[in-house]
This record gives sequence, C-alpha cells and structure tokens, in this order.
Amino acid sequence: MKKTFTFIATAAAGLEAVVGREVRELGYDCQVENGRVRFEGDVTAMIKTNLWLRSADRIKIVVGSFKAKTFEELFQGVFALDWEHYLPLGCKFPISKAKCVKSTLHNEPSVQAISKKAVVKKLQKHFSRPEGVPLQEVGAEFKIEVSILKDVATVLIDTTGSSLFKRGYRAEKGGAPIKENMAAAILQLSNWYPDKPLVDPTCGSGTFCIEAAMLARNMAPGLERSFAFEEWNWVEDALVEQERQAARQAIQRDVELDISGFDIDTRMIEIARKNAIAAGVDKDITFKQMRLQDFRTDKINGVIISNPPYGERLLDDTAIMTLYREMGETFAPLKTWSKFILTSDEQFEQRYGSQADKKRKLYNGTLKVDLYQFFGQRVKRVVKEQE
Ligand code: SAH
Repeated sequence: MKKTFTFIATAAAGLEAVVGREVRELGYDCQVENGRVRFEGDVTAMIKTNLWLRSADRIKIVVGSFKAKTFEELFQGVFALDWEHYLPLGCKFPISKAKCVKSTLHNEPSVQAISKKAVVKKLQKHFSRPEGVPLQEVGAEFKIEVSILKDVATVLIDTTGSSLFKRGYRAEKGGAPIKENMAAAILQLSNWYPDKPLVDPTCGSGTFCIEAAMLARNMAPGLERSFAFEEWNWVEDALVEQERQAARQAIQRDVELDISGFDIDTRMIEIARKNAIAAGVDKDITFKQMRLQDFRTDKINGVIISNPPYGERLLDDTAIMTLYREMGETFAPLKTWSKFILTSDEQFEQRYGSQADKKRKLYNGTLKVDLYQFFGQRVKRVVKEQE
C-alpha cells in the first residue's frame, strides 16, 4: 500500500499549538492550522501519533483535496483519488461525515451520497467488478469524511475510531468532567513540571491528576485502547505491537511525584481513585475528601489546577460567588504557587478577588471557557556571601 501519507491531527480551538508541539516532539515536522495540525509520515507515524498524542482529538489521513463547485466536480474529484491504495475489496467505507462551509455546494446529505457513488465506482473499476452490482461491505471499516470549505473539498479517512480523549481509564466521570485531552493540554500550558507539587482542589473524577502522572511517567495515553486502523489489512499487527512495546518500555518508573486531588464529594474521590488505579498511576496521587477552603500548605512553588463548578453546570449563582471568593481567600497566601483556573464565569476575577496575569480562551465541548492564569512569585535564592 502507500509508503507516505499526509495526516491531520484535529485539535480543539485554542489547543492547536499544543498539539503541534507534541507532533514535533514525536519527530514530525508540521504545520499548525485552524483546528488541525498537518504532517507527513508513514504507517509508523500513524500508529505513534495515535498512541502518543495527548491533546489531539483524532488522526486522519488526507486522501486528497480539490476544487468542487458542482456535484459533477465533486464526483470526478472523489473518483480521481487513489482509493485502491487504502480500501481493500470487501471493506466498509461509509461517508460518515460531510461538512460544507462557505461553499456553493451546501447540501451535506447529497455531498455524502455523491461521494459514496464516486468511491464505489472507482473500486468497481479497480477491482473489475460489474457496475450494476453493489459492493459487499462486510470487513474492516474505513470512515470517510468530506469537508468543503470555500469550494475546496478535502477528503479524509479517520484512523482513530472513538476520539483520542477516550483513554480507557475513566469508567466513571461524575457530573461535569473535563475531557482527558483538554486536561493534558492545560497541563502542558501550565508551568508545572514533575518536580513541583500539583494540587487539583476540585478534582472530580481525577482527570488533571491522572493526566499529570501519565505525563510525568511518559506513559503513552493510548496504550490501553484500540484504534480504527488496527482492523486494516495494510497495517501489520507486528508493527503495532512493536510500537506498543516501545511505549511500554518508555514508561518511567522511578519518578517521585507530589500530586494531590481533593473534592468535597466523597463519591467523587472514590471514582477518582478507581480511575487512577485503571490508569496505573494510583501510587502517584493522593486523593482526599476535603473542601478546597480547608487547603493549607507550607510547600513552595507548587501549581494548582482547578476546574471548579460554574454556573451552567453544577451550582447556583450565589453559591458560585461564595465559592470563588473563598477560593481567592484560600489561595492568596500561597504566593509562590501558580494557579490555573478553568471556568466559563465571566465575572470570575471579580469574584475571586484578583486579576489574572494571563487569560486563554478555550472550549470545553461547545462551552466557551477561560483559563485564568496566575503565576507564582519566584522565590529568591539566598546567596551566601563567601567568607
Ligand atoms: N475536572 C473534574 C471535574 C470538576 S467538576 C473532572 O474531570 O472530573 C467540579 C468539582 O468540584 C465537583 O466534583 C464538585 O464536587 C467539586 N466541588 C464543589 N465545591 C467544592 C469545594 N468547596 N471544595 C472542593 N470541591 C468542590
């Protein structure tokens, strides 16, 4: 089959640069675009990025791109692509998604139907099948997506399957969890390093703590799950196993971590513990039932990451106001600690009682949220004068 591919790693708005950095760290040069990161690579690159990318949503193959203002152009464009290099006879190949933005073609169901016809016709021709007889679709699945932006169609095959945020460790998640890949991205945007204390005082199902431990231990986030490409005949099982084996060996076992998660709700602490066990990082994290208002510490240079309840989700407005004010009061004495707080509440700073050093707009699903960043004061080192 094919030796090299163009891939895109899709990313939530605001997280593209983090995904780009991760792709480069894996050794692939890339371009950061709106909502996606584009890179070239072989089958190994496809396996590696699926296994290792912490902040991306999915990895997709770009089969091709062409101008399409009419259905005829769309049909011919899809037909011209080298489907025979991807799709074996007998596979399932649904056009699972069609999206038209600012384009002459805008009827998405028709775009799906025409694209499907074009792929069918191409395969019939390539495999010398009669045109009147439908192709049997029983084998492995290749989900095809067609997106048309400003009259340019891009045709993609999803390699991932269920989205990469599903690592497999979070069996239970409570009322308002943050996606695992968003948590991993925020950790990478923060100034936390594994040698610093990390506290999530509203930890819920434990996502931030678990992602932090996995990051620190260099655990591939996709190690315990499967991917769509594993069913494909041109992806050798031995190659996948080799990459999984390499990922297992890359896990750092002798890292000392100081990660704690608190929650007011005992049930959430039980869930967080279970999830940490499933992720294999329970020994790295201390989970404790506690109100964030009771958090005190003598440690320095720590990092607090919190995704507290906000209006749309868990509490009423007065309760939120009080909670944020008390949060501000509790964190204020921790001068050397950095704080990263994710909320959709636009009055957060007022209520918390302090203005953020930096704000970053993100999306938790479809909800617009801000990451309020407060950087800890650097502790001046006392330099002893030489006698
Ligand atoms: N990031 C978490 C979700 C956090 S939701 C995850 O991925 O699962 C907010 C959490 O804050 C809830 O679990 C709620 O029980 C907790 N909470 C609410 N008030 C609190 C308080 N005063 N102190 C500690 N935790 C609190």
